Amino acid sequence: MKSILKKFIVPAAAVAALGAVAEPSGDRPDSTHAWAVHDPNRPDPVKVDAQPGKAPSDAIILFDGTEENFRKNWNDQKGNQTKWKFAEGFVTCVPGSGSAQTVESFADCQMHIEWKTPEGGDKSFGNSGVLFLDGLYEVQILESSNVQPSRSPWKEANYADGQAGAVYGQNPPIVQPCRKPGEWQTYDIVFHPPIYDGKRLVDPGSMTVFFNGVLVQDSFPFQGHTGWRRRLPHANKSAGKIVLQNHSSPVSFRNIWLRKIPSRFADTVNGGLGLKMGDVAALRHKLAGESLAQANETKDAVEKYIHLWESHCYEPNRETAAKIKATEPDCIAAYKAKKGSMASKHRRDAFVRFVDMLVSSGWLTKHSPIKKAL
Ligand code: MG
Repeated sequence: MKSILKKFIVPAAAVAALGAVAEPSGDRPDSTHAWAVHDPNRPDPVKVDAQPGKAPSDAIILFDGTEENFRKNWNDQKGNQTKWKFAEGFVTCVPGSGSAQTVESFADCQMHIEWKTPEGGDKSFGNSGVLFLDGLYEVQILESSNVQPSRSPWKEANYADGQAGAVYGQNPPIVQPCRKPGEWQTYDIVFHPPIYDGKRLVDPGSMTVFFNGVLVQDSFPFQGHTGWRRRLPHANKSAGKIVLQNHSSPVSFRNIWLRKIPSRFADTVNGGLGLKMGDVAALRHKLAGESLAQANETKDAVEKYIHLWESHCYEPNRETAAKIKATEPDCIAAYKAKKGSMASKHRRDAFVRFVDMLVSSGWLTKHSPIKKAL
C-alpha cells in the first residue's frame, strides 16, 4: 500500500493543477461511514472502457443481434426456446408465443435496451414491457407518440401511468419522448429491488429510466410490484429473471446489455439501510492492522503519527493510543524543525489542518500538547 504522505501530499502547484486538496484524510470514519473523507485506503473504482455507441467493457451482452446470442441468454417462461422471430440484427415478439425471459437472474442492475413498436401501429398499440424480478416490476413499452387526451372510460391505452416510460400503474414518465411506430427507441434503466430484513421491508427499491436519453423516471420508489388496475404488495425477493413482455403485439428488440451494480443500501463502504455492522467492524479491523504496519515501517515521525491515528480511528485501541502519545514529541520536533515530511510549508499547513480535524471531531482536545505546539 502506498504511504499516505507519498500518495496524498504533493507539491502545491500539482495540487492546484489537480483541483484537489492533497493532505491526510479528513473527517474520521463513524457509525455510518467505513471510511474517512478522502481516505487513501478506500479502494479505487474498477476501470471500465466505455466507447461511444458501444456497451461498456464490464457489461453482459444479452443480445448482440444474432439469434445464437439471444438463444444463449433468453428462453420462454417455461424454459424452452422462444418462438420469437429473428431478422437482421433484431428479434420480434410473436403474439401468442409467450414472453421471453433471461436465463440468468439479476438483482441491482443497469440495463440498456432498444425497441420499436410495429410500423403503422397495431391493435395492441405496440404493448410490451421490460419487467424485473421474474416479471414483477415493469417499465412499460407502448406506442405513446400520439397520445390523445380522453376522459372516456372506454378508450384504451391512454392512461398516463400506462404509457411508454411509465412504471406501470404507478408513475407516468416525467415527460413523453416517444418516437413514432417503426422507429428505434432506447431505454437505459437502473433497477434496485426492494430490500427486506426477514419479513420487514427495509427499502421499497426503485427505478430510474432514461427514455431516448431523456430522464423519465428519477429513482422512483416502488409502491409494490406493478400490475393492471391493482395496487400490489412488494415482492420479497432480491433477484429474478428479466422479462420482455409478450402482450400480443409484434414489438422488436435489439442491442440489449446489462451491468450488475452494487446495492446502494447493503453497501458496507457507504453505510445505508442494509449496512451490516459486523462487516464494517471486520473491514476496519483489517485496515487498522494495515495502518499500524505502515506506522511501524516508516522512520518519519509525522507519517508514523498520522498512520497511528488512522489505525486508532478505524479501531480504537489503548496500545495504539499509547503509541500516538509516545510519537507526539518527535512529531512536534519535526514540525518545528521543518524536517522530513514537514520540510515544505504546504505539508506543515496540511498537518495543522489534520490536527485541527482531530480536535473538531473530538479525538483530541484543544489543550493537547500537539495542538498547542502547532
Ligand atoms: Mg406492457
